[in-house]
Amino acid sequence: MDIKVSFFNEIMEVETSVGTYTVPLGHCIYNISVGDWLTVSSFFPDLNFSDYQKDANYILEKCFSEKDNEKKVQAYLWCDEQIKSHNGYSECITKPMVLPDGMVGMLDTYIVHSFSAILFLEAMYAIRYNIPIVKCPNCKQFFIGHHTGVLYCDRIFKNGKTCRQIGAKKQFADKVRANETLAKYEKIYQSLYYKKSKAKDAQEKAELTEKLTLLKENRIKFRNGEISDENFVDFLDEFSNTTN
Ligand SMILES: [Zn+2]
Repeated sequence: MDIKVSFFNEIMEVETSVGTYTVPLGHCIYNISVGDWLTVSSFFPDLNFSDYQKDANYILEKCFSEKDNEKKVQAYLWCDEQIKSHNGYSECITKPMVLPDGMVGMLDTYIVHSFSAILFLEAMYAIRYNIPIVKCPNCKQFFIGHHTGVLYCDRIFKNGKTCRQIGAKKQFADKVRANETLAKYEKIYQSLYYKKSKAKDAQEKAELTEKLTLLKENRIKFRNGEISDENFVDFLDEFSNTTN
């Protein structure tokens, strides 16, 4: 199997004996992963796409299950290794061209030897172009968002509500809870600060300064996500027990 695959401007073009399959980056692998291969299969009449559904899901899981970009770099290298160890492509040519939008851009062309190699390459280019392929934390399914900040998908999840609506509600509840925790912190901090201003000697003042420092350090850890809301509340409760 020798197929020409090209990448430019977030587009993948696959030339087969039937014709040229043009698809926005990420959509071929995504569609196959959800069992929607009607379009792509018309360009590959000899392939059984149910064989590739597992591969597509596995690659998506490896590359896009986390938002951490360091992990995406690792996943990119993993794809590269997979293609090379399976002798996936024999040639890669990069050349400048005038792209369909009239701008000059780079066109990367590969001659690949398997359909799996196309999936790996597509995932690599999707990582390289920061295509927002995201695993929804609510329904645990992949989707392609409209921008990189997107977190939840628009699928109907329960009672006519989408994951995004459910997610927004959850994020709001988290925020309210965090605000309540911070109000608690503020109250403890203020009372301790007041105590310090009324300290009767230098030793008491030093002790209270130390306590205020400990309080602030934990506040910073909470803000940076190093300690959870629950742990911070536990700390505050214990702290106010020892200072009262
Ligand atoms: Zn979802």
